[in-house]
Amino acid sequence: MKFTNTNSVFKSLLTLFLMVLLFSQLSCSNQNTESSGDDLSVADHFDPKGKAPSKHTLAIWENWKKTLPFEDKRDYEEAQKGFIAAPDFRQIKNAEGRVIWDIGRYDFLLKEQDYQTIHPSLQRIATLNMGYGLFKVTDGIYQVRGFDLSNMTLIEGKTGWILYDVLTTKETAAAALKFANEQLGERPVTAVIYSHTHADHFGGVRGVINEEDVIAGKVKVIAPAGFMDFAVSENVIAGNAMNRRLFYQYGVLLPVSPYGHVDQALSKNVSSGSLGLIAPTISISKPIEELVVDGVKMIFQNTPNTEAPVEMNTYIPEKKALWMAENVTATIHNIYTLRGALVRDALTWSKKISEALYMFGEEADVMFASHHWPRWGNERVQEVLRAQRDTYGHIHNTVLNLANQGVTVNEVHNVYEVPASLQKQWSARSYHGSVEHNSRAIINRYLGYWDANPLTLIPMPERESAPLFVEMMGGAGPIIEKGKELFEEGKYKPAAELLNKLVFAEPQNQEAKDLLADCYEQIGYQQESTSVRNSFLAGAYELRNGIPGGEMPKSVTPDIIRAMSTETWLDFLGVKLNSKKAEGITFKMNIITPDNNEKFLVELSNSTLSNLKGFTAKNADLTLTLNRSDLNMAMMGVKSFEDLLKEGKAKVEGNPQILAQLVGMLDEFDPRFEILPGTKKEKYQSQSADGGFDAPAYIED
Ligand SMILES: [Zn+2]
Repeated sequence: MKFTNTNSVFKSLLTLFLMVLLFSQLSCSNQNTESSGDDLSVADHFDPKGKAPSKHTLAIWENWKKTLPFEDKRDYEEAQKGFIAAPDFRQIKNAEGRVIWDIGRYDFLLKEQDYQTIHPSLQRIATLNMGYGLFKVTDGIYQVRGFDLSNMTLIEGKTGWILYDVLTTKETAAAALKFANEQLGERPVTAVIYSHTHADHFGGVRGVINEEDVIAGKVKVIAPAGFMDFAVSENVIAGNAMNRRLFYQYGVLLPVSPYGHVDQALSKNVSSGSLGLIAPTISISKPIEELVVDGVKMIFQNTPNTEAPVEMNTYIPEKKALWMAENVTATIHNIYTLRGALVRDALTWSKKISEALYMFGEEADVMFASHHWPRWGNERVQEVLRAQRDTYGHIHNTVLNLANQGVTVNEVHNVYEVPASLQKQWSARSYHGSVEHNSRAIINRYLGYWDANPLTLIPMPERESAPLFVEMMGGAGPIIEKGKELFEEGKYKPAAELLNKLVFAEPQNQEAKDLLADCYEQIGYQQESTSVRNSFLAGAYELRNGIPGGEMPKSVTPDIIRAMSTETWLDFLGVKLNSKKAEGITFKMNIITPDNNEKFLVELSNSTLSNLKGFTAKNADLTLTLNRSDLNMAMMGVKSFEDLLKEGKAKVEGNPQILAQLVGMLDEFDPRFEILPGTKKEKYQSQSADGGFDAPAYIED
């Protein structure tokens, strides 16, 4: 029996899962190219081909400075209010001494200097997100901010700390708790509450509690019902594509610099330590549910299908304190997140904020969240709740109003406008989700991607249509000439329309790619939304230099594998199957995992690998029996199937060659697949020595 290849099936799958879920072992101290002085000049640009903001971009910048409500400085006061102490370090390292968090990279934002490469509103939130240290929210409630993408909130229970969300990685979470204990007096953690399924809210759990204490009942872990189903599954099936797109949305390959990465809307960035997951012991399943946690009465409001598939807000009546999880922060969120995910439900989101407003918001004295800073005073709490409720509600209603009048998914972002009253409120600004991509998302959710023009129902591939356009436009010469003319006039989008055709027709035309990159860069500088800015700047970088190298994630986290259902894993095997290689091959295989009492019928027919939970085939070609706990070991690459067989932990009946055959038919996905033409390099080298492009791989929001 040959099983040598089998283990690699599991390993290769695992790599993909982890790439989208985990941070790599890679440094986040990779970017050392921040601005060198007070006068920002193009010499400081991390990219030798990079350009300064044009006079057109500067004019737009000046206009934003004049028209946005900068006289409203309440966010600055609130972001500082309750400050207790900041640590004497600005980096957090893992056990091996590698830097996994470094807020100091962004210190250029503390120079009180205007950067004209950054939209003034974006620089505002980027500066506000520099809040760092321990803060008091109200009596008995504290937050550690600036240690990761998210906040850790500590609530004084009768016997210890109740933690609301625990950051992304063990290292940052441990550092946050340690710092809080040093300042406030050491207390044990008695409960952890996960607000929702995104990794920056649960991944640090092993830095603050032990699983043994959870099993022994000493520590409660509380989460909304369905938490474990969604914590992992949202990112698996399309994982490689999401991971690649993340390089755009999160700009993970962009150096930290006024010309590059300046913020991630919810906070500075994501830590790159080790991510864990301890399953909840208490599920909140009713729409509204009360619980006394370590002596503190809490009212949970479930908000499924809002910012995450499952999420909950919490109200603490005795403190009149309302925790809005990630449903209401200091930015409008993504209705469509650009890394790729199912489009979210803006109407439900708006209604759940309304429910919070009328259930708790009329008496709350303070509102806080898993990102950004609290809002104090009932009037202010209501103001922010109402602004966000109405922003989600307005975009939903008005975009559909437009759609019902014939405005399409390809036009709506040019037509839809946020009402002036909301534009003037900082809490309704679109730092994370842009107005443009969120408005398109609303139509996409209801009507799909088709604009009802028959041509766009079955469009030609751009690589095939572009040469015809280029030929008709008289070839590369006139296009470059017109492109330059439009660029000089500050007409970056029309210039990009033309140049994009040329780049698709002539992927090796570097002059065209450089000019298109120049357009993308100016468009990027002009964006308020980090997601859109990062995407344009990442595109510019790749057009100029090719897809950056850098190591890919290689960490293996047992917690995530454990949390992944066998069904999700088998579904992904089906996605990896190369249809052509599987032509004409059929088999039936049973997989039985006695320890969790599951069985699966896996069948290959018509180049399709299907799996059916709860069934087995009587005439299977192969039956594989092993405990799920042992399957985990194989999935993590800790043990091979041969080992498991020798140890008697796995049993096979029938033809074991089927496993090897299956391996041979699976595709390996390229984590650096080409997005823009002519950007794929033959060979990648790690660039961490020269300014660094090592990418943490991470998905959230
Ligand atoms: Zn978050």
